[in-house]
Formats: sequence, C-alpha cells, structure tokens
Amino acid sequence: MKIIGDTPVWAKVNKEIGQKYPSLSKNIETDVVVVGGGSTGALTSHYLMKQGIKTVLVDKFEIGMTATSATTAILQYEIDCDLIGLKAHAGEQEAKDAFLYDYQAVMEIGQIVKEINSDCQFNFTPCFYYTEDPGKIDYMEDECKQRQAIGIHCELYKPETHPDKFSFNYTAGIFSHYGGATMDPLRFTRDLIDYNAKNGLNVYEHTNIVDFDLSDKGVTLRTDMDFEIKATRVIFCTGYDALTFFDEKNPFVKTARTFSIVSKPVESFTGWEAQCIIRDDKSPYTYLRTTPDNRIIIGGEDVAFNHLDDEVANMGSRHPLALQQYHQLLKRARQMFPSIENIKTDYWYHGVFADTKDTLPFIGKHPDYPGAYFNLGYGSNGILYSLIGSKLIVQDYQGYNPKELQMYRFNRY
Ligand SMILES: Cc1cc2nc3c(=O)[nH]c(=O)nc-3n(C[C@H](O)[C@H](O)[C@H](O)COP(=O)(O)OP(=O)(O)OC[C@H]3O[C@@H](n4cnc5c(N)ncnc54)[C@H](O)[C@@H]3O)c2cc1C
Repeated sequence: MKIIGDTPVWAKVNKEIGQKYPSLSKNIETDVVVVGGGSTGALTSHYLMKQGIKTVLVDKFEIGMTATSATTAILQYEIDCDLIGLKAHAGEQEAKDAFLYDYQAVMEIGQIVKEINSDCQFNFTPCFYYTEDPGKIDYMEDECKQRQAIGIHCELYKPETHPDKFSFNYTAGIFSHYGGATMDPLRFTRDLIDYNAKNGLNVYEHTNIVDFDLSDKGVTLRTDMDFEIKATRVIFCTGYDALTFFDEKNPFVKTARTFSIVSKPVESFTGWEAQCIIRDDKSPYTYLRTTPDNRIIIGGEDVAFNHLDDEVANMGSRHPLALQQYHQLLKRARQMFPSIENIKTDYWYHGVFADTKDTLPFIGKHPDYPGAYFNLGYGSNGILYSLIGSKLIVQDYQGYNPKELQMYRFNRY
C-alpha cells in the first residue's frame, strides 16, 4: 500500500523537515514505547509524558511525513455520521457523547498549541454542513435542532433566510459558530514532539519496527537493524499502516483514496461566509478550508478500494486517475465560488483514507495482540480521535479503566 502520492502541501511549506532525531543503535528499555511519529504518536507521547511515564517514540521514516503531512487538518466537532444517524446506530447517549468529546477535543488542541507555544497557525473557525437536496430540508432542520439540544451553538441557514452567505447552490445547511478549527498539522506534530523531547521523551527516526513479541507481562520490539526495545506496553499509532495488522477481509474499515488540491493565494473570499470550514452531505463528500495566507484547500473525489494490493491502494505520483480527480476539484472550487478570481492549483496530492462503519475510531486493546494498545483515528476526525484515544489509553495504562473506551472498542459491531 502506498499511503501518500505526489507531495503534500505541509511537507512543501514547512522548511524545517528532514531527520532531526537519531536512529536506534542499541538495545533499550522503557515503560511505554509509542510506534509512529505522526500526529497520533505525538499526542499519545504528550499525554504519557504529562503523567511522568518514561516513553520512547519511534518512526520508520521522519516525524510527521506520512498521513500527517497530507491531512487537511480540519478539526470539527461534527463527525461524518449525523447526530440523528449515530443515535440510531450507537444509541442516544453514545451519539451525544461522541459529538461532545470531539467538541472538547477541538478546544484541547487549542490549549496544547498555547501550552507548547506552537506557531502552527491554529485558528478557531465556524463550520458549514449543507445539502443541495430539496427533499432534505426538513431533515437538516431536525439535525440542527438535535445538535442545539445537546448544547452546540448552531443555526439553520437557507438561501432565502440567509441570502449572500454563500455563492454556491444549497437548499439548507447547519452553520456552527463554534467547534471548528484549522492548523498546520505537520508544524503542530513536530513542535509537540520537540517540546516533549526537551522534557525527556526519547525519539528515534528511521527506526522501523519489523517484529515483536507481545504479552501481558511485557513486550519486546525488534527494529530492522535488529536492536530490541523492551517495555511494559506498546502503543501502535501507525495510522493506515496498521491496516496490515488485521485481516483485510475483516469488514471493520472502509478504505479509499482521497484527493486534495491547494490553490495559489486568492484576492478575496467573496461568497464564502467567514472563510468557514465547508462540507456537503454527499457520499463521498467534498471538504474545504482556507489558510492564513489566503489559499483554498479542497478535497474529496474519493475512490474506494477493497484490497491493499489494488491499484488504487498503490497509486503513485502523477497517476492519470489522480490528475483527473485534481481537475474535478479545481472545477468544483471554481463552480462554487464564481466571484473568487483566478483560482489556480499550487499543490496537489492524495492519500489513503480509512473509515469505520459507524465513523467512530478503534482505540484500545485488541484480543489478538496482548500487551499492546492501538490508537487508530480512522474516520474524518482522525486528529481529534487520536487526542481522545491518547487520553483514554493513558488512563487505562494507569489502571483507571475509562468507560469511554467501550464506545471505541474493536469488534463492537
Ligand atoms: C488527504 C487527507 C485528508 C485528511 N483530512 C483530515 C482532516 O481534515 N481532519 C482529520 O482529522 N483527519 C484528516 N485525515 C486523516 C488524517 O491524516 C489522520 O487522521 C492523521 O493525520 C493520522 O495521523 P497518524 O499519526 O495516525 O498517522 P500518520 O501520520 O500516517 O503516522 C503514522 C506513522 O507511523 C509510522 N510507522 C508505521 N509503521 C511503522 C513501523 N513498523 N515502525 C515504525 N514506524 C512506523 C509511519 O512512518 C508514520 O509516520 C486526512 C487524511 C488524508 C489522507
């Protein structure tokens, strides 16, 4: 499987990339070893270090250079499944909790950014979730009311009640004033790891874990250079690489490749209320955000794949299908915002994306892997899920058995 194709924007705009930490060159012991140095591994290590737990983090490449360098970094309380749908799937209380945990997670990312003094351009941003379907106006109204009932500050927009907000066609949409944010995810991840490395986190780049012995009594991991890391527990934060842990025929995830383009800076955002995060209700959906230097990021045009050796799962750079998807995204941005002049592509890239049936992540222990935790933020809110997962796993490691892990457990359906 090839997780990323072409060059993601964050890898281009961040000048300070490249190897910063050594590769492992001896056998070591620690309390907890975190495998994976993307945003998930960075957050997991952060919460471990906050509790004074001796932690080692390893990555087979360089920090943040896989999915973390390609994510749109839309952070929002709403998940891919509507509140109405999630209530039907997971139950009233769990659905409400899932939305509110994500809301809280957006705020907590903001707090971490302040705490570590990161210049990752974190900005709180409103969000707009809309439909073009005249038959779904009542549904949107109901969804909006249900969100208001759990304390979300949102309102229903219709073109006739809120003219001039957006230049694209829609029949109804939910405008959420709070609960959304955007940032540079690679800068955030590297800053967070640097912050914790200064406080004693041991970080090793270009250190590939190729083998392991796992048991409830302790774990031993082996690197490609045959060095050993012994620990009480391992936390796998290996993102989409973790798909290879599980039988790929096991239908617990839906896999696809998603495509993104980033425009050159534009002069104005006419027809785009508050430069908010935008998402439609189609499947697959289109998602948009802006950047502090006035670019548009638009993503979507997903193509599903079933097996890790399918062509779509292994698509390289400048693949003809990818070029067609980038072309469609540019066309869509221009259609949505006819008053924004000169929307031109500056960066383009694609990446693997995995979702679960209920759009909630898999966090916690798996019966086949004793001594291990998994923090797998599959789903559109991967970054928020990994923050939630980090906190819950650390609590579980400390013996608090947080009940919230039930909601995100493996084999839940
Ligand atoms: C185009 C695109 C847009 C997205 N948009 C959003 C969005 O707007 N909001 C959102 O929340 N999420 C989004 N996502 C999902 C998001 O990318 C992920 O949730 C998040 O970045 C994943 O971070 P991660 O740390 O789990 O994975 P990664 O960043 O992939 O990190 C995993 C790390 O594990 C390392 N690793 C793997 N195997 C080993 C091994 N054996 N030994 C050592 N190291 C290993 C890898 O080298 C890698 O660095 C998007 C994804 C894509 C592709």
